[in-house]
Amino acid sequence: EAKKNGRNRFSFFTPMMQAMAQARMRMMRDLRNALGLNQFTVYFQPIVDLSSQRIHKAEALIRWQHPELGFISPAEFIPLAEETGLIHEIGDWVFQQSAQLVKQCIPIVGDDFQVSVNKSPVQFRDRTQAHQDWMEYLSGLGLSGHNIVVEITEGLLLNADSGISDKLLHFRDAGMQVAIDDFGTGYSSLSYLKKFDIDYLKIDQSFVRNLSGEGEDLALCEAIATMAHKLDLRVIAEGVETTAQRDLLAQIGCDYGQGYLFSRPVPAEEFMQLLERSAA
Ligand code: C2E
Ligand code: MG
Ligand code: MG
Ligand code: MG
Repeated sequence: EAKKNGRNRFSFFTPMMQAMAQARMRMMRDLRNALGLNQFTVYFQPIVDLSSQRIHKAEALIRWQHPELGFISPAEFIPLAEETGLIHEIGDWVFQQSAQLVKQCIPIVGDDFQVSVNKSPVQFRDRTQAHQDWMEYLSGLGLSGHNIVVEITEGLLLNADSGISDKLLHFRDAGMQVAIDDFGTGYSSLSYLKKFDIDYLKIDQSFVRNLSGEGEDLALCEAIATMAHKLDLRVIAEGVETTAQRDLLAQIGCDYGQGYLFSRPVPAEEFMQLLERSAA
């Protein structure tokens, strides 16, 4: 009886699992050619200064337009890129696109303009010269390290072996700034804030989504902002979608906001138009 059930289950799941494995294999194969075939685009999302309401920075977010499958979310393909090691090439390309955007934005808003790029833990592994390559690229454009913010997640610092933390320090020594992405969702340990020189905390959108005048999420955001300022860090709230959320965040002293209320991530040319309007 058990054998029969087992066999039934076996024959039910196999085609599905096979199809999933095949889809994955295909995506991995296509990912390998995507850069060369110009299927990636970097979109930029404004980060707004909550006191002046002006665009102050941008976050670079990669997009993949697959010729048959259509738009594929980075949440889906970045893990595959990490597995295959393609993340290095892709990450360097996103960085270069970001540096080029900075170059175009500086005449509009000044030398302090920054673009932040996401960097996954895998990008810190197996590469020793990455910070030098990046710095060479920046100086080739007449830019300096402080025009780039590297976004990492808490997990990187908590599980950091000394190799990874050394590499992060190389980026810092080159003048690049560091932001903790999705802050508050990872671990409860805060000791890494003392150990590493961090510049920004990005409050995860799950805390911003249900912000109201009396809820616990407001208390959490306020506590994060207070702590951050005492440690001389700036705070960026992610996922700001309503004016009510924006106003509450400004009220508790949050420095910057990012979210659909201000703009969705947009192509570079469109970002430039938003920036010109904001700076006017
Ligand atoms: P993330 O770095 O936390 O990026 C924020 C995500 O929130 C983005 O999703 C953005 O489009 C989305 N978002 C922004 N404002 C709002 C809002 O108001 N409401 C809602 N519901 N969502 C908002 P996206 O672009 O799909 O990226 C997902 C994740 O993929 C990123 O999360 C990041 O971890 C990763 N990722 C994206 N681009 C890159 C990249 O170039 N390199 C690496 N390593 N990871 C990347
Ligand atoms: Mg990010
Ligand atoms: Mg985030
Ligand atoms: Mg600092």
